Formats: sequence, C-alpha cells, structure tokens
Amino acid sequence: MTTTRQADVAVVGAGIVGLATARALLDRDPQRRIVIIDKESDVAHHQTGRNSGVIHSGIYYKPDSGKTAMVAAGRHSLLEFLDEQGLAYEMCGKVVVAVDDAEIPRLDALEVRAAENNVPTERLDRSGLREREPHIEGVAALVVPSAGIVDYGEVSRALRSDLTTRGVEFRLGITVTGASVTADTVTLRTDGDQLTAGSLVNCAGLQCDRVAVSAGADTRGVRIMPFRGEYYELTPSARSLVNHLVYPLPDPDFPFLGVHLTRMIDGSIHAGPNAVPALKREGYRWRDVSARDTAEIAFARRTWILARRYWRKEVGEIKRSLSRRAFLHALQRLCPELTLDDLEPSGAGVRAQAIERDGTLLDDFSFTESRRAVHVMNAPSPAATACFAIGASIADRHDRLLV
Ligand SMILES: Cc1cc2nc3c(=O)[nH]c(=O)nc-3n(C[C@H](O)[C@H](O)[C@H](O)COP(=O)(O)OP(=O)(O)OC[C@H]3O[C@@H](n4cnc5c(N)ncnc54)[C@H](O)[C@@H]3O)c2cc1C
Repeated sequence: MTTTRQADVAVVGAGIVGLATARALLDRDPQRRIVIIDKESDVAHHQTGRNSGVIHSGIYYKPDSGKTAMVAAGRHSLLEFLDEQGLAYEMCGKVVVAVDDAEIPRLDALEVRAAENNVPTERLDRSGLREREPHIEGVAALVVPSAGIVDYGEVSRALRSDLTTRGVEFRLGITVTGASVTADTVTLRTDGDQLTAGSLVNCAGLQCDRVAVSAGADTRGVRIMPFRGEYYELTPSARSLVNHLVYPLPDPDFPFLGVHLTRMIDGSIHAGPNAVPALKREGYRWRDVSARDTAEIAFARRTWILARRYWRKEVGEIKRSLSRRAFLHALQRLCPELTLDDLEPSGAGVRAQAIERDGTLLDDFSFTESRRAVHVMNAPSPAATACFAIGASIADRHDRLLV
C-alpha cells in the first residue's frame, strides 16, 4: 500500500536554522511542497529569539572549521537578506579587550587567528581604547569592524512571511513526538494530526537529539546539554557607558564563557550571557525544572566528566547567576564605573550544546543523516549569523541523500 504524502519535505523547527533551510530547499526546487512544524505558536521562540543579536565576524574559530567557512559565507547572505527586506541592522563593530598585561599573549593570538580567518582588525593601545570606549578599562584591544547587531526574531518573522508567500505551509503549536521511516516516506507523529512527507529535516534545536533518535538516526551517543545564558540590562541612565559591543578575551577551553556588553538594535545594552546548566531544556529560570531533563543530565556519565573538568569555572558561573553583585564584579573588569543600580535583570536564552559520550563539548557545527532525513546535531553560536550557509549546506545534504 502506498501512503499519500502531504508534503515533500517536513522541516521540524521554526528557528532561524529551520527557516533558512526551508528557503534553501525552495531555492533549489521552487515546486517542492514544504511544511514547517514547530511546537510553539510563533517562529523564533527559543534560541533564535533569545540571543545577543550579534552578527559575528568569525574571528575566533579554527580556520579549517565549518564555523569559519559558514560565518564567512552566511553573513554575506544575511546582510543581503536584511537589505532586501529593509530590516534594521547596524555594523557597529566590536572591541575585544585585554584588561591587563597578562592577557596580551591571548590578544596577540586572537589577532593572528583573525588574520588567518581573513577578518580585518585594528589594534588599539590603552589611549586608543579610551577614545573609542571612554568608560572601558584595558591595556589594549582589538577592534573588529565587521561585527554588527540585528534582531534575529525580526529576521525570522521576515523569513516566515517570505516562505509563506512562496507556498510553504506552517503548522505551529504542534509538537513532533516521534517518527517512522519507510523506503519512501517519513511519518511524523505529533500531538495533533500525523504528517507524512517524503523526507525530514530536523532543526529542532534543544530537542534535536530526541527527534533524531526517534527517526532512527545513529547520533553516536551525542546528546544535547542545555546551558542557560542569563542577561542583565543596563538602566537607561547607564547606557552611555558603552558605545559599541565590548567583549572580554575568550577562554580557549570554554569559548562561550565571558560576559560581554552588547548594544541591541533597539538601543538597549545587554550584559551577559553567563552559562549555567539548565534543569529543563527550555528552562529560562532556576525554577523551571523538568524531572526527565534533570534526571537525564544528572545520571549521565558525561555530565560528571564535564563537571570534573570544569567545576571551578562552573561554580563561578553559578555564583554570578545567583548574585547580582558577583555578576557586577565580572562586568567591572571591563567597565569599572558600573554599579549595582545600573543593572536590571533581563531575559535568558538556553544554548543547545551537543556533548559526546566522553564529555567532550562539540565545538563545530554538526549534522548527521539517517534514512530520508538530515539532522542538525550542533548549531550553537554563531549559527544565527551563519544560518543561510547552514541552510544551504543542509539542503545540499538533503538533495544528495534523496537522489
Ligand atoms: C544566550 C544565547 C546567545 C546567543 N547569541 C548569538 C549571537 O549573538 N549571534 C549568533 O549568531 N548566534 C547567537 N546564538 C546562537 C543562536 O541563537 C542559535 O545558534 C540559533 O538561534 C539556533 O537556531 P535553531 O533554529 O537551530 O534553534 P532554535 O531557535 O532553538 O529553534 C528550534 C525550534 O525547534 C522547535 N522544536 C523543538 N522540538 C520540537 C518538536 N519536538 N516538535 C516541534 N518543534 C520543535 C522549537 O520550538 C524551536 O522553535 C546565541 C544563543 C544563545 C542561547
């Protein structure tokens, strides 16, 4: 018996990666019938709508990594899309600051890395930094002019409207609970009607490993570990302390640690994010706890390996999460004039960080395939910047898989 397909491709996840992938699939074949399913009632509800809003330049990543290649290609397509759609963005640039002499070798190394990645930078001494950011303290800094700011939620809503015009169907507010795959179809079980499609593209972010396993993918033990990033916002009277984007030097072992000061496209200044374990995959506050998610984290060997490796750093992060004063101290390394009264709590995002069985955090973007399906297994920052290149790469994989 042949099953009737309701779509050629089912994309799970209406975050920026799922949306950009649907666009790339449609660019390759405009006749394709694509359905995008998301458990939330609007696009960009999770990572995409809860991030720092930075258009990254690609200075940090290894030169031969997918991140470097996809940021280079993806940011170009992103800027084209923003211009085409008339969306607000600003290439305000960022400064990465060495706060004392001990940090100079790491600043030197970052300058070399930026050159390897063909990202132009300018070196500032203390007085140059003062000129650009009068309230930021440091002995030297790198200016990265190609960094910018945008609202990725807005970008996603523009993508939704573009895709809808081109015939893509959105099924929002529907959770995919499992998948069965045959030789020529994928049937998605949901909390509503089931959906049968020719193929599946899994862009489910914080749930991608679960969707992949349910579709029969061999994830080689890779699972998602949710790390919450909490933000404070500077009060309007303190906004003048920061002109652009101000970053500390990244920790080579844990590159997503280190709170920064980010001007958002709406003019507000966000401070953060930190990185604490979330007790629920989409847990935006300490009181958001899921028994299933917490048990999965607590009983996994990988968690304990990771905890043993990084417990000192994690204790610091948790302290900064629970104490505004500790968070302030971290910020005062960059901006000593900040006071407790300048900070008000703001939102949080949860990073979908993939982790291997042995406790290794996956650094690069990662994808896997199974019968009639492509799965995004790791798309952390800068995946919003790189979304169009990631989408193109997934569409290529998809089309190769289904020939
Ligand atoms: C705190 C933070 C700061 C960041 N800052 C930046 C930045 O400044 N610049 C940058 O480039 N990147 C940044 N990133 C990274 C960037 O936001 C993410 O890499 C990107 O948004 C990932 O997009 P996504 O579509 O893969 O995931 P998501 O946006 O999380 O989308 C996944 C979607 O899948 C849906 N879904 C999940 N499971 C199911 C299911 N079973 N059924 C139906 N739907 C399902 C979810 O509802 C969700 O809408 C940041 C991330 C965080 C968390």
